[in-house]
Formats: sequence, structure tokens, C-alpha cells
Amino acid sequence: MADQEALRHSRHALLDGIDDEGVAALQAARVLIIGAGGLGCPAALYLSASGIGQLHWFDGDQVDATNLARQTLFGPDDIGQLKVVAGARALRRTSPNTEVIAEPRFVDTSLLDAAIPLADVVLDCTDQWSIRQLINARCVAHQKPLVSAAAIEWSGQLLSVDPRQSEQACYACLFDPQTEPAAHACGAYGVLSPLVGVMGCLQAAEAIKLIVRGRHPGSSLPSAGQSLTLVELKTGRWQQVSVARNPQCPVCASQRTNIAQPKS
Ligand SMILES: [Zn+2]
Repeated sequence: MADQEALRHSRHALLDGIDDEGVAALQAARVLIIGAGGLGCPAALYLSASGIGQLHWFDGDQVDATNLARQTLFGPDDIGQLKVVAGARALRRTSPNTEVIAEPRFVDTSLLDAAIPLADVVLDCTDQWSIRQLINARCVAHQKPLVSAAAIEWSGQLLSVDPRQSEQACYACLFDPQTEPAAHACGAYGVLSPLVGVMGCLQAAEAIKLIVRGRHPGSSLPSAGQSLTLVELKTGRWQQVSVARNPQCPVCASQRTNIAQPKS
């Protein structure tokens, strides 16, 4: 079995920046994934395949027929079942060495405050503005890295936030919690099936890098910069947009002041 595991992860072990210690780091890591939809399914699939030791996975929703085109861990037999329960069953087959803690609940402040401190990295795979803002705020409060993604129609966005890096913007620095974009309020909308796969896999890749940087200090991975990645699959355009902290951010401004004080 040990040989099988070594073979499974041999291509990561050969990879510049990960190597054997990075593989061990991933096997020791715990990732919190919030959402088991179009983003959460590919993120969980690739993180577990990459040998993540433990996935803590929240979603209170059940599988329905409209999900099947994008949420590729589920099939017709799963309709009506809890997403994280059906998802954990699928992951046990593909990656039996990853422990999946499936919590069929929608997150709130108290659940996040219990789960976030235990995680190496948090993945926001939800599609609700208010929850997205709450997850960001609690990750800033607990100083935990967050990888946030969204996908609508043909367009996706990705933002990594590491509150331990004092120069990094948080999600609320870029997107004012008081100003919900119109697209989020309009209910049902179209979304290209592979788009969520692309964005969920980008989240998994960012999470892997954050874990390896955090647990394998000798890694040759370059230090993390920060930008907002915008993906538009109708035209095939990808953009990296520079981001900056908002000194008046309602979420992180006071936290960062508190962190900076001991150094000055
Ligand atoms: Zn902020």
C-alpha cells in the first residue's frame, strides 16, 4: 500500500517546487471546503487525488437534476441525496487515503469559527454573496489563507487571500460587502459546464501551493504574489488584474492595524 501511495504521488514528487517533502506536506494537510457544487466538486476531487490528508466539507444542499452537468461527482442515482454525503462516497472510491469529513449543513459564523482554525487553507466554493463575505471575514479574523472563486455564465474569477501577508488585499477590499453585484441578486442564470471545472481546479492548484509553501519551507516555489484572475471562456481571454489593499476596508483594516502595531 505504501508503494502504491508513493507511485500515486510520484509525479508530484518529481515536480520542481513540490518534491517528496511537498507530497508529505499535502498528506499532513487539512483543507476546509465550503460548497459542494460546481466549484467544490472539482476542487475536492483534485485535492483528494493529490493526497490531501483531510477534507472538511460543508454543504447543506441536495443533488438535483440541474446540477448534473456541472457537479461531476454526482450521477442520476444521487438525485435527492445530500451533496457532501454523495461527494464523500465518490472520493472514497477515487482517493481512499483522504479522510473526508462531510458536514451536510450550511455554514454560519459559529460553524466557521470552529472549522477555520483547524484548516491549512479554506476554499470558498459557494455562490452566495453574503456567505462569500462572511467566509472572507472569518478567514481574516483567524488569519487563515482563503482561495475564493466564482463562476457565472462564461466568466470566472479567482482570488487568493493570505491574511498573514500584511500587503495582501482581502475579498472585501475588492468587493464592498455593502454593494451586492446585480448578477448575484437575479436568481437563476446560465453557466458553462466546463467553466466551473476550470475555476475549481484553479482553486485546488492555489491551495496546493499555499500548503506546500506553509509546510515545506525549503520548497523552490516562488513567494506568493497576489492578483485577481479573470477567465472569460466565450472568447478564451485570461487576465491577471493587480489588486491593492483598501485602507478603509470594513473587514481587514482594523485587523491589519492590530497586526502591524507590535512591529512599529
Ligand atoms: Zn480587506
